Amino acid sequence: MKRFGCVEAGGTKFICAVASAPDAVTATCRIPTTTPDETIGRAIAFFTEQGLAGGDLAAIGVASFGPVVLDPAAADWGHIARTPKPGWSGADMAGAFGRAFGVPVAFDTDVAAAALAETRWGAACGARAAIYLTIGTGIGGGTVVDGRIARGHRHAEMGHIIPARHPDDRDFAGICPFHGGCLEGLASGPAIHARWGASLSDLPADHPGHAIIGWYLGGHAAALMAAIAPDTIVLGGGVMGTAGLIDRVRAAAAAADAGYRASAEAWRRIIVPPGLGERSGILGALALAQDLAG
Ligand code: ZN
Repeated sequence: MKRFGCVEAGGTKFICAVASAPDAVTATCRIPTTTPDETIGRAIAFFTEQGLAGGDLAAIGVASFGPVVLDPAAADWGHIARTPKPGWSGADMAGAFGRAFGVPVAFDTDVAAAALAETRWGAACGARAAIYLTIGTGIGGGTVVDGRIARGHRHAEMGHIIPARHPDDRDFAGICPFHGGCLEGLASGPAIHARWGASLSDLPADHPGHAIIGWYLGGHAAALMAAIAPDTIVLGGGVMGTAGLIDRVRAAAAAADAGYRASAEAWRRIIVPPGLGERSGILGALALAQDLAG
């Protein structure tokens, strides 16, 4: 059975695993994200300790925080693009793993990889088109159509779409350094904290923030339906751990859609939590590696 190296490269931690299938993960480790040299170096050391330098490794999949360079014709394919994250602009992620082990490296965003894993093994099994959207420290998404990640010359930036304003949320400027009140600037964890001084899950159940965030995310889901027509929209990320939020999002999506694309009952089936739980990212890295190895 082919073995794959899997890396979920996050902004606060890297998760590494050796796996041949989702139910055949033989080793994992967590590494805090510090500098590129130290963090990638520790990930390479982990794989070396697992005996992966011996030549039985089929491929490595890296599911990375963004922005990243994905144009295969670009000289800096596989690098982190310009980012406010100190030290990481231009870091060569894919190349470092490829050079260390001499194997092909599959590289994509964490959210596109999660969409692939959820389509293959999780909540979007059987979907012809599926979107995975994370709502956490940031907001981002990936799309899979007919079993493949779909995109143009760059990866999607689904969190940086500017939504209509909730009528009770007109005074908040939003926290995105580029756009102010884009979706990420209004509905990410830090945006919730900036307005109300707590995470959504820590706000009282009758706090208006619950309805406002549900309204933004539901409106976004309806917009994604209009643009891409997914069968399934998987909502992950820390903010979605808030009790009752997914039902508010479903209701808001149905209200925004007004019965045009899907009934309220259909929206309940379309918008779902991750079937793979917190493993969407690392299993996304596995799916990337599997596809590359063929
Ligand atoms: Zn933005």
